Amino acid sequence: MPKGSCLCGKLTYEYSGEPVKTVLCHCLQCRKLTSSAFTTNLLIPRENIKIEGSPKHYEFIQETGDKFTTSFCGECATLIGKETDAESFKPFLILEAGTLDEGFEQTKPDSEIFVKHRTPWLEEMKGLAQFETKP
Ligand SMILES: [Zn+2]
Ligand SMILES: [Zn+2]
Repeated sequence: MPKGSCLCGKLTYEYSGEPVKTVLCHCLQCRKLTSSAFTTNLLIPRENIKIEGSPKHYEFIQETGDKFTTSFCGECATLIGKETDAESFKPFLILEAGTLDEGFEQTKPDSEIFVKHRTPWLEEMKGLAQFETKP
């Protein structure tokens, strides 16, 4: 089973099965949350993932008006994932792929979302579905 953890190791997780989707997100909230140009998100059915430890949570309203709740480590601040009631993401924990302990290189994105915010020094990735905002 794929496993992952925060930087300090106080939060760990594992999930069964394959991610339903792998989505690169260019939204401004993901940029702030991770201080990076985009996030790499694995959509894992909530019942397939188990998080060990005591994540802290932060709620924010995404630019589409959808409410998101993040899970992160209170010690090292690593963002593990987020959840939302937005229709296309509701059944999933949206896992930050960069927290995988192994297998990150094998994650294959299938779409890019919020490409209207993609920074000009990044090109569209060939073969990936493109969405101006959310799918
Ligand atoms: Zn930590
Ligand atoms: Zn985003």
